[in-house]
Parts: sequence; C-alpha cells; structure tokens
Amino acid sequence: MPILAQNAQTPWRIIMPHPAHETVKLAAHELHAWVAQLCGAQLPTQTELQPVHTHEILVGRSGRLAHYGIQVDWEALGEEGFVMKTGENWLLLAGATPRGTLYAVYTFLEEVLGLRFLASDCTVIPHAACVAFPELDDCQLPAFESREAYWSDAFNGSYAVRNKMNANKADISIRQGGRLKFYNFHHSFDDLVPVRQYFDTHPEYFSLVDGVRKREHTQLCLSNPAVIRLAITQVRRWIAENPDCRVFSVAQNDWHNYCTCPMCAALDEAEGSPAASVIRFVNTIGEDIEKDFPQVLLHTFAYQYTRKAPKTIRPRSNVIVRLCSIECCFSHPLDGQTAAPLAPDRNEKGQRRCQCALEGENAFLRDLCEWGGICQHLYVWDYVTNFREYLMPLANLDVLQRNLQLFRAIGVKGIFEQGNFSQGGGGHLVELEAYLQAKLMWNPDCDLEQHLNDFLDGFYGHTAAPFIRQYLAGWQQA
Ligand SMILES: [Zn+2]
Ligand SMILES: [Zn+2]
Repeated sequence: MPILAQNAQTPWRIIMPHPAHETVKLAAHELHAWVAQLCGAQLPTQTELQPVHTHEILVGRSGRLAHYGIQVDWEALGEEGFVMKTGENWLLLAGATPRGTLYAVYTFLEEVLGLRFLASDCTVIPHAACVAFPELDDCQLPAFESREAYWSDAFNGSYAVRNKMNANKADISIRQGGRLKFYNFHHSFDDLVPVRQYFDTHPEYFSLVDGVRKREHTQLCLSNPAVIRLAITQVRRWIAENPDCRVFSVAQNDWHNYCTCPMCAALDEAEGSPAASVIRFVNTIGEDIEKDFPQVLLHTFAYQYTRKAPKTIRPRSNVIVRLCSIECCFSHPLDGQTAAPLAPDRNEKGQRRCQCALEGENAFLRDLCEWGGICQHLYVWDYVTNFREYLMPLANLDVLQRNLQLFRAIGVKGIFEQGNFSQGGGGHLVELEAYLQAKLMWNPDCDLEQHLNDFLDGFYGHTAAPFIRQYLAGWQQA
C-alpha cells in the first residue's frame, strides 16, 4: 500500500488545475488540513503549472491527467459523481464538476483514511503516525439527485456537504459548491394568487366548496384562465428576481378545500383524482416558461387530496411531483403496510393508530408506483421523526434502509427526510438519524450497521456505545 505519510513526513503533493475553481481550492485545502490533523504531515499544495513531482495527488480535472494517461468518463459522473483512482505514484480525486471534486476529497478522507463527520460539532479523526491507502478504482454517483435530511444540525453547510447532501435548507456556500436551491419550498398557492389581493374583486379565482367561493382556507380555481395568467406572471417574476434558485414551488395550500366548480370537477372526475387539475395547471405554467428558462423546474405536491395520481395526465419534464407519506406509519416499512388510506385512522381519543396490522390494500404503495410510472422527477416527502411530538422517540431505524431502497426501485429522484427542524434542535437521537439518512440517500445499499457502529462509538464513545445499542434494541422490539 502506498504510504501517504510517516512520522509527519510525506513525499506527496496536492496538484490543482490552473486556474482552480474556488470549490476545488477548498477541496485541496480540506485535504491538506484534515491530513495535517490526522498525522501531522503538511501536504504542499501546488497547481499544474509546477513541474511534475514524484508523488502527486490530483485534486480536480487538470492537464496532469493527460500526462499520466488517465481516462475518465466525465459525462457519466453528472453534477455530483466523482472518481477515486490510483496509479503509479499518483492519486486522482475528481468529479466532473468542482462539487464532485469536493465530494471525492471528503469521501477519500472518510472511506479511505477513516475520518467520520458525525455531526456539525463532532468529527472523529483516527490519529496515526503512519497513514497508507490501498489501490483505488472507485466511481460513485448519488442514488438521488436531491438529498435533504431536514434536521436542524444538518442545516450546517459543512456538515451537509461533508456528508454529500445538497439540501435546500442547508447553509452550503457557493464556495462549497452551493445547493439545489428552491424558491418558496412549501405550499405556495396563496403567494401565487393571494386571497387578500384578489378575493374581494374576484372570488371566482378561488375554490368553490359546497356551492360557495371560499375565502378562508381556500385553494385556487385551477381551471380559471385568469388564474392561470396571473400564476404565469407571478412565476416569471419569481424566476427573474431569484436567479440563484433552480426550483420554484407551485403547490397547494396546507389544507383541503379544493375547487369543485363544474370545470375543475369535470376534469378531476374523469381523471379519478383532484391531482388532475393541479398537474394540468402546473404543466401549463411549465410549458410557458420552458423555452425561456430551460434549467428551471417547477415543484408541486401529491399530498392529502392530491396523493392519488391522475389516470392520463402526465407531469411535464420540468415538473417535480413531491409525494407525501403523511398518512403512513413511520415505524414500519412503507411497502410492508397492509393499509395506508388517505384519511389517517384515529382511536376514540383522536390519536393516530398504526395501520400496519389492518387488512386491505397498501394505498400509499399504489400511489407511489403510479406516480413513479408517470413522473420524470418524482420526489418524496417522508417522515423520520415523531411528527406529533418532536421530543418523543420514534422507533424507525429498522425501516430507513428498506424505505430508501423502495424509493430508488420505484424511480424516485429526490428525498426529503422530515426530521425535527426546530431551532433548538433537540429530540430523540437527532444526530444519529441525520447521519444515517445522509448515508442512505447517497447509497441505499450502504452498510448501515457499520455506519451505526461508527456513530455510536464516535459520538457517544466506546464506553457508552453498548448501552445506547441496548437502548436502541429495546425501542426496535417495543
Ligand atoms: Zn374551479
Ligand atoms: Zn405501523
């Protein structure tokens, strides 16, 4: 195995491209800094303008690759993939993009040199006098294009990017390669066509429910041509004013009361779901903006009354549909539940009951498969916390991997793991949940047991880890 450093001495140098992108410079800086902490060696950092040295770590795509005769299929790596490769006295850590290169460095530090980025304030460094690395020929791509563990600790940009997440909410700087940034991530119909601005003069823009146009807790009348025109104008304004955002939400408000006027109702009835009106509406906006903004995606929900897919209407290629699992049980696998109907079942005290033991069709799985069959960008909003009481435990460690594998098999492209996002950030095992979810969103087939053990030993310490493990086992059996 090549020796990277021994007794704080190293024959290796970091070689960057010239000129180097800020993110590639950060990648080189991080490699230098963490290796120095690991073993005391100071890796000199240079650019490809320097003469070829005996031992070179190539960070990013430079002319050195041609010198060494290294071939990489950059196209196949996409925006976030990367390679870790070794040859005779060279090591390549690079993506097709600067962000991919940064991931290559963090993955080398983690998977090869043994560092662990467990939480925003907890990194494990396995100090050693002698550090070596094996021959490498590794190429990694994310299983999902959008990866967000929605826990307050994971909003730390350094933590997020070290664990290869591109979360909208995480504070990932441009220097760190940025993030998949949404404008108006959540429910947005009221921002699109505000009730306070239009209801008095145009009640017909809003939902007709039980024969009355609703002002409170309303949605939009999605078949009204004036509403469509206003929505297009508003979305175009959002795009113009937020050039750093790539995704714009056109999503129902967070309650029911969809429009049942004859025009809306006719389409929804023919298509078997109120999602029909929503998808046709978002498609119309998507078609309008497509030519002017080919990089932009629109984002809508399949949530509560729109969870079921329409029969024939297909989301356009620039439309993200985010399916929400809020009716499901989060302690049992989503594909193992015999029933997850649209209305959550409640006991006599109004508390939600686990549906898993009931007889019947798995309605969520049906909806997931149907959307998977018609969407180019199906994203999921899943729940990984006790959503009624953030501080209460949720026994879900046994279902995380199976659910992520299910999503990938269906063709889901984006994952939002709803944890406890409150500012205080406390709650049951929050750092552990975020860490495991980050690993699974990158690779649902990862060795989760190993990641769990790494975390328990590193975060809680070797002495406490067996007790935490016992505690976890107790919850899983409960
Ligand atoms: Zn209507
Ligand atoms: Zn259950």
